[in-house]
Amino acid sequence: MDDRELSDLTTKCIRCGFCLEACPTFALTGNEMESPRGRIYLVRSALEGALPWQETRKHLELCLGCRACETACPSGVQYGSILEVARERLEQPSLAKKALLAAMTNPALLKASLKAPGKRIPRFFSKEPPQVDKPLAQPHQAWPELHDLPPVRGSVYLLEGCAMRTLFPEVHSATRRLLRRLGYEIRPSDAGCCGALHSHNGYRKGGIDMANALLKAMPGSEPIIVNSAGCGSHLKHLGFDRCLDMSEFFHAEGLTDLLQNAPSYKKRVTYHDACHLAHGQRIESQPRDLLRAIPGIQFAELNEASFCCGSAGIYNITQPTMARALLERKYENIQATGAEIVVSGNPGCHAWIEQAARERGGKVEVLHTAEILERALSGITGDQRASQ
Ligand code: SF4
Ligand code: SF4
Repeated sequence: MDDRELSDLTTKCIRCGFCLEACPTFALTGNEMESPRGRIYLVRSALEGALPWQETRKHLELCLGCRACETACPSGVQYGSILEVARERLEQPSLAKKALLAAMTNPALLKASLKAPGKRIPRFFSKEPPQVDKPLAQPHQAWPELHDLPPVRGSVYLLEGCAMRTLFPEVHSATRRLLRRLGYEIRPSDAGCCGALHSHNGYRKGGIDMANALLKAMPGSEPIIVNSAGCGSHLKHLGFDRCLDMSEFFHAEGLTDLLQNAPSYKKRVTYHDACHLAHGQRIESQPRDLLRAIPGIQFAELNEASFCCGSAGIYNITQPTMARALLERKYENIQATGAEIVVSGNPGCHAWIEQAARERGGKVEVLHTAEILERALSGITGDQRASQ
């Protein structure tokens, strides 16, 4: 995208301010330059030569890329695209950022870096104290054998990705089982990272190349099922409409009906909207409908459910203080529901909220949507961490 196209995107902003209240960084700072309207103004000023590009840097870096402003905007401003292109424009070749992105998105490197000494992931590009604990390996889930399966009626791909496959392998196990319960088999593929983190952090071209390579590794017309909100949002943003979030696919394929015959699951549960599901893909009702369809469940709606938790890709590593403030706010809202389980659909939110739960004694369990649905259908009701 050239400067002219970026400028056209910014001119759609009519400066009405409807987005301000939805913006987490504006909510916490009260500073117009940390709001969507302010950031669009800064980008526009830099494009017109009225401001050096470098002066936009700290404001664009403090942006979460959560896209809550897009949901709130009555003019259809594509803020996510403005941010991606402006960050690419700003980003100097940075070996440190490239190394961080490589470590986060290459399963072998990610595994190795989690074994390095120290409890926390070191800070990058920040003088603030680091806040992110190295995620713990997800406990192995002993799933019971599947019975009474329907005949196979179709095939799909499952995007295994990078962070999800390394940190939360049981989310993939649960998704595979749910697919099979609905009569779908999974086509094998060796596709890796989709490039979402690269695109969101100033390496847009690299992110697009990785997404194209991923699509090549999944030939044909079968749907590509995605269980990581950030990946799904990135791929859909590029127009790859074969990609479907697991919750929209399962909802459309009748999983709510199947859940009616599940054993009773008497748990109090709340749901946190991952930004890239609620704002990036506008998927809010399907996961809630699926959760509410579990027999016996007590579903408690979360205050500020679609307000970012501060994880935001590598944001909690690069902007630890703001990320921590948002995590505290999110966790207070979760505690206020009285829920035993909080459900979400993205590995970043999962690991970050799980850290907050651990820090407070681990009374709340964090599960991916696929995990709780499959646990309910399999009749697994206990807290699996307690049995480790
Ligand atoms: S709501 Fe949309 S048009 Fe209004 S100020 Fe925000 S970005 Fe601009
Ligand atoms: S993407 Fe999120 S943090 Fe950034 S301007 Fe929009 S609402 Fe604010």
